[in-house]
Formats: sequence, structure tokens, C-alpha cells
Amino acid sequence: MNKANLLKEDTMRKNVKYRTVKIKIFPTPNQIENLNHMAKERTKLINELIEEMVEAKSRIYKTTKDIDTPLPSSMKNQAIREAYKYHDISQKRGYHLKPIVKKHICQWQGQTLKVYDDAISVTFLTADGWGRAQVIKANLNSRGDYIREQLRRLQAMLVTIKKINNKWIAMIVLKDNSTLEPLKVENIAGIDLGIKCPIVVKTSNGKIKFIGNGRYLAFRRRWFRSKRKELINQNKSYLVKKIANKEERWMREQDHQLSRELVNYLKENDVRLLKMEKLTGIRDIKTDKKNTLRLHQWSFYRLSQYIQYKCEDAGIQVELVNPKYTSQSCPKCKRKNKTNTRTYRCIQCGYVSHRDIIGATNVLSATTITK
Ligand SMILES: [Zn+2]
Repeated sequence: MNKANLLKEDTMRKNVKYRTVKIKIFPTPNQIENLNHMAKERTKLINELIEEMVEAKSRIYKTTKDIDTPLPSSMKNQAIREAYKYHDISQKRGYHLKPIVKKHICQWQGQTLKVYDDAISVTFLTADGWGRAQVIKANLNSRGDYIREQLRRLQAMLVTIKKINNKWIAMIVLKDNSTLEPLKVENIAGIDLGIKCPIVVKTSNGKIKFIGNGRYLAFRRRWFRSKRKELINQNKSYLVKKIANKEERWMREQDHQLSRELVNYLKENDVRLLKMEKLTGIRDIKTDKKNTLRLHQWSFYRLSQYIQYKCEDAGIQVELVNPKYTSQSCPKCKRKNKTNTRTYRCIQCGYVSHRDIIGATNVLSATTITK
């Protein structure tokens, strides 16, 4: 695919208008009691409003003052909107259907939300009947700055707090009011993950960047392996487990670092669309004679997951391409060429390039997999 086609295809992509951010929160027992109570009151209120409107066969316009339910007003407002939504569903079916809400969740209008370093706050109703901001401990990790930045730039529309699999989660729906510029050809990059060069990035203007030190990573991995062998020989199985865990943690940290470095580079270069190979994690590798290769393969999968997750956080779109385009295929004529030197030379069409950037070049020009 040439640059002109790439440009045409990518500028036509729609810009994302809504975005959801999930945050793990840790309410105190007292706050949990309050959340559960408010959630039930909210469900009851919505069902009452639906019933009233379905019976009247019309939307009944309400303000928070019309509602006695002990809830903060931003929750009441949200509940009214929710009831309108269900009324409209019923109306479409000639009021033969009366929807009933069963799920207990807490939902506020977005403006109630504040985000701190390790906490968020939303409004609860105190015993005296007034709304008051409640600070709930939250796990924002490295995303605190990102979320605060998003809140400055985007508008929080809706905050939902609910329990999922025994964990409390706050979901924030953000709306982008600004009209983003359409993607330009310079805003696109392709990456290739490898053993020698952990990440090779190529932007569509031809700029190349190598991220990570493959030689160092291989050295550390060999060190872990020899240490493990040594301990096995000494019959110290408890230490074998310990060193294996340590290696696992170390590898995870490496993947975090590599993906962080990549996303920073993409942001610096104003990349808004990243193309990468779709990796499944369980891949049939015929050449897998040694366990080491499988280890590498699995690590690529995790790294690619981290990259996707961090890109999403940074507002960079990710598109997955078919992994059949290997670092051996010629970007020009697709012939497979083996190379033992640093220079890649296609014996069919004469294409010449640096060996390590063939993969990224192929990914950049590959067609996206439609999900
Ligand atoms: Zn060729």
C-alpha cells in the first residue's frame, strides 16, 4: 500500500467521542453500607418513576425537588434520565411493556466527580439530608495524571459505582467535545517485537526508533536460568520456586518499562494510530524446539497486551494486523529472504534495507484485521 492510500484510509476514520475509564476503589465499611443503601433507593425510585410514566402513557417532567427519595441531587437527576429512557422503550411498544430495573448500582452525573492522587470523591447524602463529597480510596497507579488530564480536557458525563466480582469499581464516562483533527499520514506508526531489538518502531514518515536492549535482557534471562539450574542441582526446590517468581516479576517489570517508553515516544512524535501484530499467546510454533522460544513468544504476548492497554490510556488507537508478515518478507514484493548480515537485500526485486526494520515496515503497510 502506498502513502496516498494510507492517508485516504486513515483520515476517514471516525474520531472517538466517548471514552470510559475504570478505577478500582476501596470504600470503607461505612461507605459500602451507604453505597448499598443508595443503590437500592435509586432502583426503587427509577421503578416508581417508570410505573408512573407508563400509567400516564407519557414522560412526566420532574426536577430533583419533586422527589423525596433520600439521594444526592446528582443521583436523582441521573435516575430521572434513566426513567425517561425506559419510558421511551415502553412507549415504542405501545406501553404494553413495563420495564423493571433490577440491578442495584450507584450513578451520578459527572460533575460530582473529583480525582485525587489516590482517591476519588462523589457525593453522598448525610444524615441531615445534605449532599457532601465523600472521599473514597482508589487505585489510580500511574494513571492518576492521565485521568486528571482527561478530566481537564474532557467532560465527565457519568460516574457509576458498582461491585464486580467482589471488587468495587468506579466507571467514568468521558465525552470529547472538541473536534479532533483528522489523522494525518505522519500520525501512524508500526511496531515489530523481537528478541534482538525488543521493540522497533517505524513512523509513516520513515523515522525509525529502537526501544530496549535485547542483549541485556537475554543476559539477565540466562543468568536466571543458570541460577535455577544450580539450585535444582543442589536440590533446593523451595529456592527454585523463589527464583522463578523473581524472574517472573522482573520480566513483567521489563514489559512495563518497554511499553511505557514506547508510548512516551509515540506521544512525543504525535502518533495517534499504532499498528501491531495480533498475537494470541497460544501460538503453534513449528520451530519451537527449545523452551526458550516459547518463553519469548509468551512474553511478546504480554508485552503486546501492555502496549495496547497503555496506548488506550494515552488516547492512541491500536490496530492489529495479521502476523503472517514476518521480518523475512520483502516489504516490496513479499518474497521471503534470509539474511545473515545487517543489511536486508531482496534477491527478487533488489529491495535493500536494514535487517531489523523489515518487520516494522511490513506491519506499517499491512492491512488491518477487522474484529
Ligand atoms: Zn522484494
